[in-house]
Amino acid sequence: MNPFFNPAFLFRIGKGYMFDISRLHRLSDNKLRSLQNKQLRKMIKRAFTVPMYREIYKKEGIEKQDIQTISDLEKLPIITKEDFAQHKPNELIPSNKTINDFVKVSTSGTTGKSLSIYVDMYEIVMGLFGYLRTINDYNISWRKDKISIIGDFAPHTAETGYVKRGLLPNTMFGNVFKTIQWLDTNSKPEEVMADLEKFRPQFIGGYTGMLGHLAVLKTQGYGKHVQPKLIASTGALLDPNLKKFIEETFETKVFEVYGATETGPIAYQCANAGVYHIMSDLLHLEFIDEIGKPVPSKNGGHLLVTKLFGGGTPILRYNAINDIVAPLYEPHQCNVSGDLIFKIYGRDKIRLFRKDGKIVLASSLSSIFSRLLYELKTSKIREMKVIQKNLDEIEIQVVIDEDLRDIGPSINEIFQVFEKGFKEKFGNTVSVSCHEVKKVNRDEPRIISNVDPSTLKITGYV
Ligand SMILES: [Zn+2]
Repeated sequence: MNPFFNPAFLFRIGKGYMFDISRLHRLSDNKLRSLQNKQLRKMIKRAFTVPMYREIYKKEGIEKQDIQTISDLEKLPIITKEDFAQHKPNELIPSNKTINDFVKVSTSGTTGKSLSIYVDMYEIVMGLFGYLRTINDYNISWRKDKISIIGDFAPHTAETGYVKRGLLPNTMFGNVFKTIQWLDTNSKPEEVMADLEKFRPQFIGGYTGMLGHLAVLKTQGYGKHVQPKLIASTGALLDPNLKKFIEETFETKVFEVYGATETGPIAYQCANAGVYHIMSDLLHLEFIDEIGKPVPSKNGGHLLVTKLFGGGTPILRYNAINDIVAPLYEPHQCNVSGDLIFKIYGRDKIRLFRKDGKIVLASSLSSIFSRLLYELKTSKIREMKVIQKNLDEIEIQVVIDEDLRDIGPSINEIFQVFEKGFKEKFGNTVSVSCHEVKKVNRDEPRIISNVDPSTLKITGYV
């Protein structure tokens, strides 16, 4: 049965609609902890109906009643991508359900093999609410104001699963969300801008790269009536200079929302400070070092995620979000409850290495690429790939947009910006060779290193 025709389901959604969106404002820290504990017990109970978890927990000798509160989480084994890959789809969902009761969402393959998890409609809607409530803190009403969301709606993506296969086929949501415009980040920026111009949203949520391209277009006179009161950036770390460029161009404020396929939204930037508020009513995060010990406040660690809601594939102490993130344990003066993130460093697997043993993460490289947008004001690079051949040689492949080839700065100027930027990060002796290609291989990561890190003494992150 379609869950939307089920009165109990509609009631649950109604409750979410009215209460959950502001939950992080209403709850004291104590109430939030007890909500977390209650939700965790529910998720553990459900995990024991899911063959994969039952098998893993049985092997470890774990019983349902061992896990009563968040502090018991450390008793559970860490769940990896390989655990998911070794099990069939029907072993990832409660055994009293079938695959058809869920929507399948797949993680992208950029950091390894893609994997699929199964979510129910309640999770999809709660994930969307989690996203929308971030804008409440910035005085935008998702019910009154017009909202444009520029998602990744390529056929294989999680967002296509969540939105196109989950949300939109449903007539009920057509009405509830009629103030939302869905746009595709795989479209050309000019097309996205034309749609925004027609809709004139008060809020735009999109990927960092697309937002940068839109800002370049705006400086060229496109989208005269695109004047959002607020912009949210997701997917990549926002370089401060790029942020300033987007804010100045659109005369608006930009903040960051952090999320992942497997979990939906995870955290968002506080309206009053640079820190991020974790959606602690929806998930719990742990931050661990290489040997699995919790890192101190403000130190980068690997994320372990425990999702506290949803009837599909449970996510419990899951380690494959693959980001380096630093927690903040010091108090933060704010009316939002829940845990805090101090800094998000970005993907841990997409990394280059420096002679001195420092790791250069993708987020550090993005500050080079974003200069094209805010310094050269060009979006003529459509795709690119960085290959670190060895510690002394870096190759950069770029795909040029043919429509823009003769507009704005020359390709040579662009290459000079790359060369200068990479030499700043890797030292003057590094050779940087840039050249054009017709296309880049989309199945491989965009940033590849052939350096074997075991030959280096790793000394930390740049
Ligand atoms: Zn705050």
